[in-house]
Amino acid sequence: MLRVADSFARTDTGRQRRSNEDAFYARPPLFAVADGMGGARAGEVASSLLVEVLESGLPDGGNDEERLAGREANAQIHELSRQDAERAGMGTTVTAAYVGDRAVALAHVGDSRAYRLHDGRLEQMTRDHSLVEELKRRGKLTEEEAEEHPQRSVITRALGPEARVDVDTVSVPAQAGDVFLLCSDGLTAMVPEERIEEIFGDGDGAGLERVGRELIAEANDRGGRDNITVVLFSLEDVADGAVTDQPTQIGVPAPSAEQVEAAKATAEAEPAAAPRRTVPLPRRRKPAARAAARGRRRRIRGLVPTLIVVAILGALAAGAWVATRAVYFVGTTHDGFVAVYRGLPWNGPFGVHLYESFYVSAVPVSEVPTGRRHKLLDHQLRSQGDASDLVRKIEQGQVGAS
Ligand code: CA
Repeated sequence: MLRVADSFARTDTGRQRRSNEDAFYARPPLFAVADGMGGARAGEVASSLLVEVLESGLPDGGNDEERLAGREANAQIHELSRQDAERAGMGTTVTAAYVGDRAVALAHVGDSRAYRLHDGRLEQMTRDHSLVEELKRRGKLTEEEAEEHPQRSVITRALGPEARVDVDTVSVPAQAGDVFLLCSDGLTAMVPEERIEEIFGDGDGAGLERVGRELIAEANDRGGRDNITVVLFSLEDVADGAVTDQPTQIGVPAPSAEQVEAAKATAEAEPAAAPRRTVPLPRRRKPAARAAARGRRRRIRGLVPTLIVVAILGALAAGAWVATRAVYFVGTTHDGFVAVYRGLPWNGPFGVHLYESFYVSAVPVSEVPTGRRHKLLDHQLRSQGDASDLVRKIEQGQVGAS
């Protein structure tokens, strides 16, 4: 199952424009770039309206492509442009990507682009809806003529200007290690594809942030004639373990020994891989628990030699550590997103941390039907597969209201 390993998103006004009409959305598994158009800053309104629509979540039902191509944003931008003469005809491009189990679904209108970097090779995954692209396709312009064409920035399709819009969608099969680039034409009009590919190759291809910053700097060095937006994300297999550094929200009673054993038994059939990086867990402990822990420590110290105490504590810690590797639960981050945690849903004695954030979804808990929330987010112990499946279902809106 694919997961987002790393991501980077930035927009830059460039060197010649006074305002930035681009916008982006980057919250795994959903990413998008929008390049607004229209006078009196209406482009800015259109592209940020698109981002707002994405923030409110993808529609339910259908496959990833269908959900991504939801026409909601077009309807809203169009409606707003009809109500306000200053905003008449405003619109925005959109190139959006949704990371599914085995493929990345893309939805696209206009001349922002999606590229996939696979084995060091950059491939364009979208076809521009622009005048020069149409002319090229009909054999009326060569590649070289297209690059110099005065109407290069004229687009033939956008979200907003019409009541209905055709959204191109495609599902791109993807693998761990692939990197996707979504960008506005402020990048691609300034930086040739070969140079973009080279920048990915510099510095072992590592570090999306380095690549993203270099792409923007390169577009500016070459003139920065337009707003530049770059969204990057890399993929890994879920078996590699996507540990995030989001904080956690906790505060339920410890599970019973039977619950731990049952969850471990399920998980043993499915070994948990080592995390890419581990994240220290919160050290919160209630004052009463602290006092009890101190009391326990004192009593033990009075009874047995220090060496044995150390051995016992070590064994306990090792046992707890093994348990935390094997079990998972679904909960909520402190800022309200559905997440998978690895470990036990409580803070153990002696400051031992028993859970860590394993995967944070883009779905706010408010989107989980109220009737199901308690049952789904009850911190029940699960195998990695069960917990991931459950969150995937929530992400795909497959969780009914009851
Ligand atoms: Ca642009």
